[in-house]
Order: sequence, then structure tokens, then C-alpha cells
Amino acid sequence: MVKICCIGAGYVGGPTMAVIALKCPSIEVAVVDISVPRINAWNSYQLPIYEPGLDAVVKQCRGKNLFFSTDVEKHVREADIVFVSVNTPTKTRGLGAGKAADLTYWESAARMIADVSKSDKIVVEKSTVPVKTAEAIEKILTHNSKGIKFQILSNPEFLAEGTAIQDLFNPDRVLIGGRETPEGNKAVQALKDVYAHWVPEDRILTTNLWSAELSKLAANAFLAQRISSVNAMSALCEATGADVTQVSYAVSKDTRIGPKFLNASVGFGGSCFQKDILNLVYICECNGLPEVAEYWKQVIKINDYQKNRFANRVVSSMFNTVSNKKIAILGFAFKKDTGDTRETPAIDVCKGLLGDKARLSIFDPQVTVDQIQRDLTMKKFDWDHSLHLQPMSPTTVKQVTCVWDAYEATKDAHGICILTEWDEFKNLDFKRIYDNMQKPAFVFDGRNIVNVDQLREIGFIVYSIGKPLDA
Ligand code: NAD
Repeated sequence: MVKICCIGAGYVGGPTMAVIALKCPSIEVAVVDISVPRINAWNSYQLPIYEPGLDAVVKQCRGKNLFFSTDVEKHVREADIVFVSVNTPTKTRGLGAGKAADLTYWESAARMIADVSKSDKIVVEKSTVPVKTAEAIEKILTHNSKGIKFQILSNPEFLAEGTAIQDLFNPDRVLIGGRETPEGNKAVQALKDVYAHWVPEDRILTTNLWSAELSKLAANAFLAQRISSVNAMSALCEATGADVTQVSYAVSKDTRIGPKFLNASVGFGGSCFQKDILNLVYICECNGLPEVAEYWKQVIKINDYQKNRFANRVVSSMFNTVSNKKIAILGFAFKKDTGDTRETPAIDVCKGLLGDKARLSIFDPQVTVDQIQRDLTMKKFDWDHSLHLQPMSPTTVKQVTCVWDAYEATKDAHGICILTEWDEFKNLDFKRIYDNMQKPAFVFDGRNIVNVDQLREIGFIVYSIGKPLDA
């Protein structure tokens, strides 16, 4: 029986390995992590992450061919293929701080693999890493192992949170990069055999190591760039009376452009887009390509601009002050169908409003009070001296209440900010909400999910990103 071990039981390691276990009953899969609470949660009924469809997959395989454990060394030692899916955040200090990827967790995993291995292994980069990381990992492994042979593969993950299970069941492509040597080709084939259990052959792409590593950064940069492009356009729409939804639709009809990822919003979030673009910027700078670095930086600058623009719009619309006004925040996660708040635009918007002394009442169906308190008080790394990066003091955070219902959040509020596109927010009884709010009642839709005309009919003053403003 082939044995797989995955180091890192996070948003990627957990779902990816659960799907491999489901699709490959003949493979034993162990997901290991140094975090005891995380592993305990994976072994309980309350999984550590919310992801539609994940519970059912885990329930089907856990205890049969899928195991979650903190015994990292044992499972690594026994495995034929070791995936490494640890976090690779942006460095916060030292050389490259604010841009370069922090590979501390990766390096420590690689040293441990070399240390405990007693048989040859394939080591798979599942984490998103800078191009050429495999070269460094090879050095660490070969200089520390005792005659054991390691083949390094790059197999970046393209799943999106919120649709992870769907994406893993039916991926657009699986990318495997390896050394172009007989041993490298053999390792690539071994990993292809795993995915071939359910992924059609023409969707499994093989490349050299560096192309695979760079493709992941490139894919995220392109996706984020699309969002920044439409968001930049949304500002121009507001200034001219054009409607960004109509513009996006017209643009999307060009088959060279297509319809996906063209929704204007308060900005992108999540743990990956900003981090991976900063990483790309750093790599360009290190390779003597400052103009290319500058080009990608603009994607993040527009994103910061959009978040600040939204917060400023709220304040300016409400007669230039939100001091002591109650603002309902509907949605805190960085997108719908996840409880993940890493780099969510809600943090910047909330900080902007708290900075003007608003009282916030926050509701998100999947985000806990603790997460919100932590996110608002955490220091964020200032990559470009942007606004709103200061952590909120505990006193300021007292201006925040977290509630479990949108109607509770909006009761007696002066304004509503919709910051996550949860489906349930589309079907709220806005008449009831309007009746229970202070007047004039404002709605600021950061995701363009409400029916603007209907809300205006009820009596709301509505601002929706990139749409013509209220007369
Ligand atoms: P995460 O923070 O949710 O999970 C990483 C896990 O690794 C943590 O639980 C941590 O405790 C564990 N870990 C760290 N060092 C370890 C060690 N030495 N031994 C054992 N466990 C260790 O991160 P994530 O969101 O799953 O992302 C993982 C990687 O995948 C990152 O490089 C990320 O960029 C990439 N990625 C993420 C997504 C996404 O949507 N989250 C998508 C594609 C790729």
C-alpha cells in the first residue's frame, strides 16, 4: 500500500488529503501538524475549517485510510510520498521583510524529513513557494540525509477557499513539476498515478520544476490583477455615471476575456493574493527587473485604494462623520462560504470606520467573536505605508459588538456595510431592517449583491460599488 504523509493540516493540507483519501482507497493518507488543537479538531465533529462538502468527505474516510496526527516524525518516516503544505507567510523582519516569503516553516519541515527518513522519498511542494525553492530544499535534504535519496516535485495547489472540495474533485488542471532526469521522471509518474485515480489525463500537466513553482505565483497574480482591473474601472464608473456591472458584462462578452472574476468589490482578501504578489515583486527585484516588480505592485496598490475608498465613501456619505454612529457590518470573512478572515478587506474597512469613532455591530455566519477581536487588534505589516494599518487598541475594540443575526446587527443602526457576499444577505427582509434603523438609513454594498432600485424604493440611501450614485 502506498503511504502518503502531508505536513500541515491547514486550509490546503486538510481538504486536499481528504480528497486523495476518498478517491484512492488503496492509499493510506496521514495528515500531520504541530498544532495539537488543529489535529484534535480534525479528529472531532467540529472540523477546524468551514468548507462546503468537507465534513462528508472526512467522515467517509477518517479512521479507514485517512488519519490526522501530531506524530509528525512517525508518519513522515513511514511515507513514500511526503507533501509539505505548511504556511509560507510574508517575512516580517530581516532581508526582504514585507515582500519575501518566510520559508522558516518549510526549512524546518525539510530538516525534519532528512533527519527522520530511513527510506527514499518523494517530497512534494504543496505550499506556494518562490521559484527556485526546490533547489534550496534539495540542498537541505541531501546535506542532512544519511544516504537516503529524495526527489523533489512541485505540485502547487489551485483550490479556492469556499469551493475547495468542488475544485479538488474537478480541477481545471493538476500541475506537477520535476527534474528532467530518469529519477525525476519516475517521481513525476508516481504522483501522476495518484491523481490519475480521478483526474482525466489531459488535465494533469507536467513541466520543469521552475515553471511549476512560478506558475502558481503567476496564476494568483493574474487573478488578483483581474480584480484590481475591474475595481479600478469601478472608480471611473462612479465618476462618470457608467455602471460597472454593465461595463463588466459588455467586456466579458469578448471571448478572449470571458466572464469570470469580473465582479467589482470592496477589494480582494485571503491569505494568498497579496502575499504571492509581494513574493513575485521581491523575486523580480532580486532578478534585476524593477519595472516588472513595479507593474505587479500596482495590483496591490489598487486593492488598498479600493478598501480605503470604500471606508471614506461611508464616512463622507454620512455627513462626513460616523462618530458614535452605529454601523452594521454584514460579513467579515474574505469571501462567502468560508470562515477565513486572513487579509479580509473587512479588517481595513472596520479600522477605517473605528478610526472615525463609529460603533460597529458585526455579523458573519461563520466568523467567531475571537477571530474578529484578534484581527482588529493584530498589527499588520505595513508593506507600503498604506492607511489603516495600525492595530486597534483594546479600548477602540470596545466600540465593536459581534452578534449572531443580521437583524440584530442592523437594529437602530445608521448605516449598513455589506462586506462579504453571503447568499443569505441577498434575501434579507430589507423593509423590516429599514423600519428598525435610524433615518436616513444608508446601505453601502461592497459586493454588489443588493437590488439597488428596490432598496431605494424602500427609502434607503444606497451606495453600491461602481454604480451610479443616489441623486
Ligand atoms: P495554514 O496556515 O492553514 O496551514 C499550515 C499548517 O502548517 C498549520 O496548521 C501549521 O501548524 C502547520 N505547520 C507549520 N509548520 C509545521 C511543521 N514544521 N510541522 C508540521 N506542521 C506545521 O495554511 P494554508 O492556508 O493551508 O496554506 C498552506 C500553503 O498553501 C501556503 O503556502 C499557501 O500559500 C498555499 N495555498 C493556500 C491556499 C488557500 O486557499 N489557503 C490555496 C493554494 C495554496
